[in-house]
Amino acid sequence: MQALDEILKHAESEIKSAADLKSLDHFRVYYLGKKGQLTEYLKTLGQLPPAERPAAGQKINAAKEAVQALIDQRILQLQSTLIEKQLASESIDVTLPGRSEGMGSIHPVTRTFDTLRRIFSQMGFVFMEGPEIEEDYYNFTALNVPPLHPARAMQDTFYFSNGLVLRSQMSPVQIHAMKTMRPPLRMVAMGRVYRRDFDLTHTPMFHQMECLMVDERVTFADLKGLLNHFLKEFFETDAPIRFRPSYFPFTEPSAEVDIGCIRCSGKGCRICKNSGWLEVLGCGMVHPNVLNGVNIDSEKYRGFAFGVGIDRLTLLKYGMTDLRSLFENDLRLLKQF
Ligand SMILES: [Zn+2]
Repeated sequence: MQALDEILKHAESEIKSAADLKSLDHFRVYYLGKKGQLTEYLKTLGQLPPAERPAAGQKINAAKEAVQALIDQRILQLQSTLIEKQLASESIDVTLPGRSEGMGSIHPVTRTFDTLRRIFSQMGFVFMEGPEIEEDYYNFTALNVPPLHPARAMQDTFYFSNGLVLRSQMSPVQIHAMKTMRPPLRMVAMGRVYRRDFDLTHTPMFHQMECLMVDERVTFADLKGLLNHFLKEFFETDAPIRFRPSYFPFTEPSAEVDIGCIRCSGKGCRICKNSGWLEVLGCGMVHPNVLNGVNIDSEKYRGFAFGVGIDRLTLLKYGMTDLRSLFENDLRLLKQF
């Protein structure tokens, strides 16, 4: 009976320190299995005098039950530790902020395109498109810039070896329009143009809008009225507008148009280089040579035209200074729109 107590003591310390269910099962077999320590003990009952057998049997059975209870208890402990461990490793912190889908926005240049389309379609202009790779004729000759004309040097054009060019302005679309449609004509062309230039205010590819109106009694005053409305509408301002005489081969007379600085209201700032004015576009009355070249009678019809940099309009409207930033697709910039 003393040995039985020893076994119980051993079993208790071993079961309580069992590290996992597998070693616990090992102890169960060791003590309670068919050849386990306590089972073997039960088999020795026969050697005892009959009078002692019931008491000894009861004691051994109690020991078996005690060991089984210890094992059951340890199983519960190990299982709950296992569950806690699993919960800790699979836990979700519901207080963390979620990962949202990135929200896209409309590129500032696209915004300007949309605004221009709205303003000019409200005034009854039609929008036309043309190829980006042009024949020399449409990009220069038809616009009163014959070969060897000095104005060709004003635009650093990309030439292909077969005489084609990447259009350096949107004017070729006007030539296509005047060759296929008869006046009265009110059209706008917006798109990509190309020049060999790259610095703070120039990129090899940029966007231009050109506007043309041809009719019997079109005057410079009509042009002025249109530009006045357009610039005030676009910049949402009452800033003054001024015309300065200028030269373009395809218009006569020609003018450059400034708007009172929308940043400083004409007081002078970094954007307007302290002049109080912002250069925005070039315009003029269509040169008779251009009209005659597309078989529109310049004695009967007159027209005005203007061209404006869409990217420059965008920079001015949003108070930006580096044209290149519009094409770098830096999300920190784009997210502000
Ligand atoms: Zn200014």
